[in-house]
Amino acid sequence: MNYDAFFESAVQALQDEKRYRVFAELERMAGRFPTALWHRGSDSREITVWCSNDYLGMGQHPKVIDAMASTAQRMGAGAGGTRNISGTNHPLVQLENELADLHGKEAALIFTSGYVSNEAAISTIAKLLPNCLILSDALNHASMIHGIRSSGVSKQVWRHNDLAHLEELLKAAGRERAKLIVFESVYSMDGDIAPIEKIADLADKYNAFTYIDEVHAVGMYGPRGAGICERDGVMDRIDVIEGTLAKGFGVMGGYITGKKSLVDAVRSYAPGFIFTTALPPGLCAAATASIRHLKESQVERDAHQRQAARTKAVLTAAGLPVMPSETHIVPVLVGNPDLCKKATDILLEKHNIYIQPINYPTVPRGTERLRITPTPFHNDELIVQLATALVDVWQTLGLTFETPTLMDDDMVLRQQIFRAAGG
Ligand SMILES: *Cc1c(COP(=O)(O)O)cnc(C)c1O
Repeated sequence: MNYDAFFESAVQALQDEKRYRVFAELERMAGRFPTALWHRGSDSREITVWCSNDYLGMGQHPKVIDAMASTAQRMGAGAGGTRNISGTNHPLVQLENELADLHGKEAALIFTSGYVSNEAAISTIAKLLPNCLILSDALNHASMIHGIRSSGVSKQVWRHNDLAHLEELLKAAGRERAKLIVFESVYSMDGDIAPIEKIADLADKYNAFTYIDEVHAVGMYGPRGAGICERDGVMDRIDVIEGTLAKGFGVMGGYITGKKSLVDAVRSYAPGFIFTTALPPGLCAAATASIRHLKESQVERDAHQRQAARTKAVLTAAGLPVMPSETHIVPVLVGNPDLCKKATDILLEKHNIYIQPINYPTVPRGTERLRITPTPFHNDELIVQLATALVDVWQTLGLTFETPTLMDDDMVLRQQIFRAAGG
């Protein structure tokens, strides 16, 4: 048995399919986001990051950094154990209280990451319910699918955001059977939003339990940053709201919120919660500072929406194939893994712009894309720079442009961009 050969051929298979992943080694610079240093061997140079999930730049917010550093100074770097043994620290409990309040729920429970929270909570909830049937949206995140698989219960997949299909499956299962509906609020690759209220109506009608992933919405939507459920006034209609501290809140960790009985059951039964070390106090304090700030401040959310809308408008004016998106996420279609990788290589090498290519299995084959995430820190000048670089890439690779119908201002902008791109 030649073990090495198996690993090498597994990686070679990805290379043959042109979806072998290469990471850019970055050094983020607090206070200068979205500028970062790109390290390559002993070389380094400044680039602009256009694919960060630190959507609001909270990872460099002075209040957040101060909370992390000062708490670590006072309480040390680590938690000192799993929560069952010795890891429950005061800032962790404060953070859970903050999150329960944010989502208007009785209780919250923190996990090491959003991924772990989905895996641990979904699998545990489904296992505890007798003869449970999971109804899962077709575009659910890998962490939710992992949770569903490890529960071992039966599942049915409903077509993405298709209420009629969901209702058909609910009806077939009957009111008496335990049913867990799992879905997301903002789908992170297309940037579309679930019809949450109508899903809640169906859940009521057929007596189902609901679990939503608000990972790409917390911090960013709703008057206090609790997400789309808050924006739409339906937080109390969903049984479990799951989120991350790593995207809009800019730090790290995952959580669920819900009724005390549910949270206590997951706390007591989920191996992914029980057998792993608690988050360190500094991290918890930083997350709390971020959540508290975004509960009060609308500035970041407004600027975020504005710059995302501006990015879509400018890229569209330049004739780039911006995919329709209702949110802050700006996907630009390439439709081929090799060209997608080449496009991002040229962006980085020639234009000092970092965008990671998004290939299968993150998105379906044939829909390979650039996933662009503007933040409040991507100003109008950077947006025009991005459009100009993309036009150059599209011309270099012979990718197809669209011909948008434009108002006068956008025509002028379009001419400027093409002139700057030398086309
Ligand atoms: C990123 C992501 C997660 C995982 O969150 P982490 O905190 O990064 O582990 C869960 N769900 C969705 C939809 C995500 O995009």
